[in-house]
Amino acid sequence: MIRRAVFLDRDGVINVSPPKGEYVQEWAGFTFLESSFDWVRLFNALDLLVIVVTNQRGVALGRMTQADVDDIHQQMLEEFSLRGCRVDDVFVCPHEEGTCECRKPRPGMVLAAQKKWNLDLAGSLMIGDSDSDFELARTCGLRFLRAENGRLVQG
Ligand SMILES: [Mg+2]
Ligand SMILES: [Zn+2]
Repeated sequence: MIRRAVFLDRDGVINVSPPKGEYVQEWAGFTFLESSFDWVRLFNALDLLVIVVTNQRGVALGRMTQADVDDIHQQMLEEFSLRGCRVDDVFVCPHEEGTCECRKPRPGMVLAAQKKWNLDLAGSLMIGDSDSDFELARTCGLRFLRAENGRLVQG
């Protein structure tokens, strides 16, 4: 079965974005944007897969470890579950700029998700707060909405 998905950027979409050059290094520093629960609940009701795609270059920079990032995501998924909604998958690029195929706006994470979940990309949506998310969506043929402080705006 071919399925449609909503790809969510993390920082600035699900949680308050850290200041430029800083990273969410531990769960205590992760602050949800309340709107994300409503959005995910809606996508679940429509039977759309919900897939997080996030650049976490702080790992490459030694500001946090992959285990720190995994822990944050495990707790994030638990909180969504406690709120009665479900995020289906999380893809992370932990790499330095220019060293991989997965750091957004490169399409590696979306293509891996497409393969894993058998996705119809043209029928899928990306929600992000940055130009790299917009560029990723354009590269992959995804529809795009921009998130701004918990609101959704056009492109
Ligand atoms: Mg972002
Ligand atoms: Zn990468």
